[in-house]
Amino acid sequence: MRSWPTPFLPELPDTGTRPVVRLHDSASGGLVEVPLGPVTGLYVCGITPYDATHLGHAATYVTFDVLNRALRDAGHTVRYVQNVTDVDDPLLARAARDGVDWVHLADRETALFREDMTALSVVPPEHYLGVTESVDLIVADILRLCAADAAYSVATSESAGEDVYLDLARCPSFGELAGLTRAQMLVLSAERGGDPERPGKRDPLDPLLWRAERVDEPSWDGGDLGRGRPGWHIECTAIALEHLGIPFAVQGGGTDLVFPHHEMSAAQGCALAGERTFAQVYVHQAMVGYQGAKMSKSKGNLVLVSALRARGVDPAAIRLALLAHDHRTEWEWTDADLVAAERRLHAWRTALSRNGGPAALGLVAAVRDRVADGLDTPGALDAVDEWVAGALVAAGSAQDLDPGAPGLVARAIDRLLGVRL
Ligand SMILES: [Zn+2]
Repeated sequence: MRSWPTPFLPELPDTGTRPVVRLHDSASGGLVEVPLGPVTGLYVCGITPYDATHLGHAATYVTFDVLNRALRDAGHTVRYVQNVTDVDDPLLARAARDGVDWVHLADRETALFREDMTALSVVPPEHYLGVTESVDLIVADILRLCAADAAYSVATSESAGEDVYLDLARCPSFGELAGLTRAQMLVLSAERGGDPERPGKRDPLDPLLWRAERVDEPSWDGGDLGRGRPGWHIECTAIALEHLGIPFAVQGGGTDLVFPHHEMSAAQGCALAGERTFAQVYVHQAMVGYQGAKMSKSKGNLVLVSALRARGVDPAAIRLALLAHDHRTEWEWTDADLVAAERRLHAWRTALSRNGGPAALGLVAAVRDRVADGLDTPGALDAVDEWVAGALVAAGSAQDLDPGAPGLVARAIDRLLGVRL
């Protein structure tokens, strides 16, 4: 699937020892170093394209963009993979509700997502893959799970074919990521696309791998599986195995994906590859609220990036508003976030339009350190604010100024934070 244009990443000078990138790992709860290998695999779960990019999505993809940039700056060769869940129950339900073709809906919303990502200066994934173009890959993996006796069929009155489920009892690593009790898992499974009440399953938590063909639903040839379509979690497992192999460095997404999506993706991947570890580090973006509730399509309380852009809001201000919050802390979007970000953007642009400023090499090192240290973007913005305050004071005084400093700061902000001034 076509992704979006790659923004230019300016070069930065050496500022001494490059920081090691450390991330807050959801599985262990600790700050974990990302090992410097030949290739650093980054897999971030993509959208289900039935509604345009809201600020919760934008927070996720901007957070992982900062990670992508930090890794590259620290010398990693990053291979970034992202999927698009371009066929799934919520997408089909929305298309039916609105009386539109589901393919048209998915294409339209994916196109809008690309525009939003481009406006927000997000570096695109090298591999951007829809489920509908990965069905053969997914079918092959499900058949391998069946052959290994790690999957089983359940008959349904809704189809001549049979649905196929993963047998979690054959997945020894299951449960290691989220660390939840069984009762908690059952609640979340029911809330987030699972079917714990379905009769005939060996374990109520077993996730669907293949949904046999239903009347009025799209389906693909699944070979020995019969016609049908993939379940949700197996798409990410199959795409990650194909394009990264396991274990890979970082699995990312919103905190609402920890369970069941990431837990199931990992369990399946480990069962398929005979490995104990799916991703070395799991990083999650906290939910963004609006008007007292989590921003979500189902609640309808969305602030859309495209709507802000249509109002004339500078995408750099949207990005700064997102970066002002730590990725692990839930927060609620208000107009004050945008006002503060626009004020900050104005101050930064004013300082950088001057003919000189205080020496800036220390600032470049500070921004590098902050983003590499668990993606501390609020700390990075504070460091820039401090330099900007100094530059604005210095501009009215007689002290010596470095004529190259504003350009260097602009390049650092562009490369590391993705904010072009
Ligand atoms: Zn995923």
